[in-house]
Amino acid sequence: MVGVHEWALAEAVVLTLSQYLREVGWSRVSRVVVSLGELQAVDREVFEFALKELTSLYGVEVGRFEVVDEEASFECRSCGFRWRLRDLNLPDEVRESIHFLPEAAYAYVRCPRCGSADFALLSGRGVRLVGVEP
Ligand SMILES: [Zn+2]
Repeated sequence: MVGVHEWALAEAVVLTLSQYLREVGWSRVSRVVVSLGELQAVDREVFEFALKELTSLYGVEVGRFEVVDEEASFECRSCGFRWRLRDLNLPDEVRESIHFLPEAAYAYVRCPRCGSADFALLSGRGVRLVGVEP
């Protein structure tokens, strides 16, 4: 099943992009910026390859794709404190399991201020189209 996930994510990006281009009436773009959540376990090389293949499949002309990282951040529902994944002093194996399965964050992450396990994930999941340049 290697790569299936990446292709599905890339397809969602390309479909959104082609719809956007139809709306604005552009036939090609020079640069597209895509943000990739830190907690989205994807093989970046496969993802970038899939983006390129799918744009030609969907007839979208893109000069260059730029994939940027979106940091994982959390907000405590008890005290309102906000923090980032990298602020926490987690062992490497825990960090890795969170990258592999974001839901694992709920087993390991606690609010650094009040210790609550009731928090929301503000960013760091999913793939988003963040910029399109003609
Ligand atoms: Zn808190």
